[in-house]
Amino acid sequence: MENLIVQKYGGTSVANAERIMHVANIISNTCEKGKRVVVVVSAQGHTTDRLVEKARGISSDANRRELDMLLVTGEQQSAALMAMALQSMGHSAVSLNAAQVGIEATSVHGNAQIKRIQTKRLIEELEKGNIVIVAGFQGINRFGDMTTLGRGASDTTAVALAAVLEAELCEIYTDVDGIYTADPRIVPSAKKLDEISYDDMLELASSGAGVLHNRAVEMAKRYNVNLVLRSSMSGIPGTSIKEESKVERLAVSGLSIDRNVARISVTGLPDKPGVAHSIFNPLAKAKLNVDVILLSVGEGDNRDYCFTVHKQDLKTACEILEANKENIGYESLNSDENLAKLTIVGAGMANNSGVASAMFEALYECGVNIETICTSEIKITVLIGQQYITKAAKAVHDKFEPMFSKDYTETEET
Ligand code: ADP
Ligand code: ASP
Ligand code: MG
Repeated sequence: MENLIVQKYGGTSVANAERIMHVANIISNTCEKGKRVVVVVSAQGHTTDRLVEKARGISSDANRRELDMLLVTGEQQSAALMAMALQSMGHSAVSLNAAQVGIEATSVHGNAQIKRIQTKRLIEELEKGNIVIVAGFQGINRFGDMTTLGRGASDTTAVALAAVLEAELCEIYTDVDGIYTADPRIVPSAKKLDEISYDDMLELASSGAGVLHNRAVEMAKRYNVNLVLRSSMSGIPGTSIKEESKVERLAVSGLSIDRNVARISVTGLPDKPGVAHSIFNPLAKAKLNVDVILLSVGEGDNRDYCFTVHKQDLKTACEILEANKENIGYESLNSDENLAKLTIVGAGMANNSGVASAMFEALYECGVNIETICTSEIKITVLIGQQYITKAAKAVHDKFEPMFSKDYTETEET
């Protein structure tokens, strides 16, 4: 649709009445420029966390469907309040939830994926001259039940709407000025990037940089959505997320931190075909994501497997592995929750030898022991003790400081 902009506002940006009125002003200014606007909102402040806590107060193992019924109310509150704010300023606005729009998603409660979005109601409302406010983070499954799309997934709602409506721009408004070379709250010397490629952003988001939901980036890349992340508070131009060929290449784009990892070790396995399948197949069937997989030679001829899962999935993953113990044929199962993941990302690192060794040097210099290493062409991940993560992130960021600049070229060996 011509002249259409999708704007998404995160939890901090809509935290209270004052912030909502401030955001309503940004939306109003956009309309005054002759744009039609679809707005996606998150729940206010820490509402989603509070709702999760409320559910825990009733049951430590709340039914996933009912949990989703509870969580979706957070976004619906914000959407209604934003519509009221715009109406109080004289605009025509309407709030819609996922069922009213027709955001069809898979059935996995808590981690559903958008399958299809109906555009009929959205287009009708826009053509009536309404600003349309959509509750983010939610979908309806084939049974007509509400599902949620994973923590932080209002970003994905916004990008998906921008894709189906062929919006000219999708702006993600948040509480930082843009995408930085590291989380600026952890590494104060982090630099703001003017632009970053979809691929580098996807790696950062997938390895823990919560600034953008990873599926939002994936979808933006697939549908070539013109995506910008910026602050709802400062008015400073943000960071554009673009196709690789349109971005000036940096050797290293940034580093990310993930404290939500747990490591599972399954040891004493036979060395024969099918073992990996017997471990990971039941986990995949339960829709659990597994990351950083390592296979090593254990005692005698045995093999040991080590991999990470999201902390919230640890209990379920261990229960599944215990239930399948006989079939898998392992001797022992252990887990460790006191770890964190530090990842450096950059498409340019494939052509820069010495990136891994510089990272290891930085960790050595600050006395941090590496528990596990995993590398690919575009990223290097280490697992370290959780208590060292801030110190390690600062040290690694300092070491790569020269590479975070456009004019960096690898120095010749002497
Ligand atoms: P919202 O509620 O607007 O969706 P989030 O809390 O999900 O906001 O994301 C914004 C936060 O992401 C920032 O406050 C910042 O602490 C964190 N963050 C993590 N990595 C980065 C990064 N590379 N650049 C900028 N912010 C980052
Ligand atoms: N409110 C949801 C969350 O806190 C979704 C979002 O903010 O994007 O995860
Ligand atoms: Mg977010």
